[in-house]
Amino acid sequence: MSLLLERSPRLARFVEGALEFLWPARCVGCDEPGTLLCEACAASLPVIDQRYACPHCGAPFGWLVCTNCAEPAPELERVASAFAYEGVAERLVKVYKDDHERRLAPVLAEALRFALENLAASAPEALPSLDAIAFIPATEEAYLRRGFDHMELVARELSKRLDVPVADVLIHHRSGDQRELGGEERAENVRGSFEVAGDVWGSRLLLVDDVITTGASLRESARSLVARGATVPLAASVARVW
Ligand SMILES: [Zn+2]
Ligand SMILES: [Zn+2]
Repeated sequence: MSLLLERSPRLARFVEGALEFLWPARCVGCDEPGTLLCEACAASLPVIDQRYACPHCGAPFGWLVCTNCAEPAPELERVASAFAYEGVAERLVKVYKDDHERRLAPVLAEALRFALENLAASAPEALPSLDAIAFIPATEEAYLRRGFDHMELVARELSKRLDVPVADVLIHHRSGDQRELGGEERAENVRGSFEVAGDVWGSRLLLVDDVITTGASLRESARSLVARGATVPLAASVARVW
């Protein structure tokens, strides 16, 4: 076991959890056969230290409240991301979503659990009791392209691990391409793109997504859940763009 893994029991546990899923496969980071994520690549994942992340949006290196969160969204109290969106973490998400490697769903769920455990270790008060796990679903267009809802699979895997049920309640209507847009424009672009189908009144929800860029989609979906009487004390993502 590498030195990094020996020094970090939580990361070691994440790797162990991820390595449970052995199939004839290749590592997403280095192509090594026999595993979807080898120990060396797992040890090189760019872990976000929750002690130094922005308490509102989970951005790394924020120390306290980051510059984007001068006015934090009231709908979403806390966000924790496992990794910075680069290197092996970026490959992990891309191979899962773009190459349709569904067997990575448990690995992404382990990453979410890893983020929550890190948050619990650095800020125990930030971990509320939860009634259900909601996820940002694929748009219909993306669903048809991939043949699966990538975050639904991850949410179901996480549900088994946390023993918290999944609330499959969000519908994601198409919004324009976000890639070329800045933060303000993204927020405008996603307005009204989520619909809640199901009763969430009074539920405390964990909201999960794969990658957070500006957090616009996350905040908008949280807003629609809160409008239907839920609270979203916590959101988690596998990776965070910074
Ligand atoms: Zn590797
Ligand atoms: Zn922030």
